[in-house]
Amino acid sequence: MASCIFCKIIKGKSSEIPCFKLVETEKSLAFLDINPLSRGHALVIPKVHGEKLTDIPDDFLTDILPIAKKLVKATGAEEYNILQNNGRGAHQEVPHVHFHMIPKPNQQEGLG
Ligand code: 5GP
Ligand code: ZN
Repeated sequence: MASCIFCKIIKGKSSEIPCFKLVETEKSLAFLDINPLSRGHALVIPKVHGEKLTDIPDDFLTDILPIAKKLVKATGAEEYNILQNNGRGAHQEVPHVHFHMIPKPNQQEGLG
C-alpha cells in the first residue's frame, strides 16, 4: 500500500522512514520502535499489508514466536510485554499489523 509507512519500511525506503532493522524473514520484519517505551522496544510486522490481525494470512503468526524469542534473548530481558492493537479505538496509530515487543528492564538496571 503506497501511503503506508510500514510498507515503505518493508520496501527499504529507509531514507524516507526512520528504521533500524533487527530481524528479517521471508514473511516478517522486526525493527526498533521510533518512540520506544523501553530500551529495545521493537515492532514485528508482516511483509504483506493488512490493517488488522484478522486481515492477514495465518502463516504470519508462525513467524512471531521464533522472532520474539530472538528479540527477548538479544535484549537479555527477563520480563517483557507483547502487545498488538487493532483499530483506532483500540489505540492503533499505524494501520499496518504490528506486534509490540517491549522488554522490561531487569531489576538491577533500575526502574522502568
Ligand atoms: P500503534 O499505536 O499503532 O500500536 O503503534 C505504532 C507504533 O509505531 C508506535 O509505537 C510508534 O512509535 C511507531 N512508529 C510510528 N512511525 C514510525 C516510524 O516511522 N518508524 C518506526 N521505527 N516506528 C514508528
Ligand atoms: Zn502497509
